[in-house]
Amino acid sequence: MVLHYTAMNSARRACDWLCNPESQVSAHYLIGRGGRITQMVDEAQRAWHAGAGRWGAVDDVNSRSIGVELSNSGAEPFPAIQIDALEQLLGGILHRWQIAPARVIGHSCMAPGRKIDPGPRFDWQRLARQGLAVWPLPADPAPPAVFRALAARAGFTAPVDDATLLSAIRLRFAPWRNGPLGPPDMAILADIAARFPVDVPGPAA
Ligand SMILES: [Zn+2]
Repeated sequence: MVLHYTAMNSARRACDWLCNPESQVSAHYLIGRGGRITQMVDEAQRAWHAGAGRWGAVDDVNSRSIGVELSNSGAEPFPAIQIDALEQLLGGILHRWQIAPARVIGHSCMAPGRKIDPGPRFDWQRLARQGLAVWPLPADPAPPAVFRALAARAGFTAPVDDATLLSAIRLRFAPWRNGPLGPPDMAILADIAARFPVDVPGPAA
């Protein structure tokens, strides 16, 4: 599951754009600011919403994901009624396709440095409370030397430099943080990597 914002001022315009062959982009669903859900592509079909990037072991994320666009300019809060609709939609999709909450990600998670949506205003913690995404619990920070390893275990496997990767991780879990990599970042990664490893083979049974 890849969540986006449209970066447009109206769902109507976004709908026109996503339905226009010239745009060469599409999404499975568009959710308006008032909570109206428009399905644009069948869930079993491929839409063109993700582009280049990587999540866990998946490098063709676009062909293996369902994309939801939230009508939002990128500079405004998401109305509660819109997120209510998203939660309802996600609940159904995760159930139908047996998708784990750790695989509900932002465009920015799989395309660090290239995409920032759904952006710092998106309330991931709210989704996590409904079991529709993951969110960290307090944990002891891991040493900075394992930053890349833990990030990869948490799903952040895109081939970008450390600073770009850290920005993407913060955008997802702590958008208010800035400055160099620190113990709070390593505490988040320690917890997420331990509880929600992505595409990591488990110990042999
Ligand atoms: Zn996007």
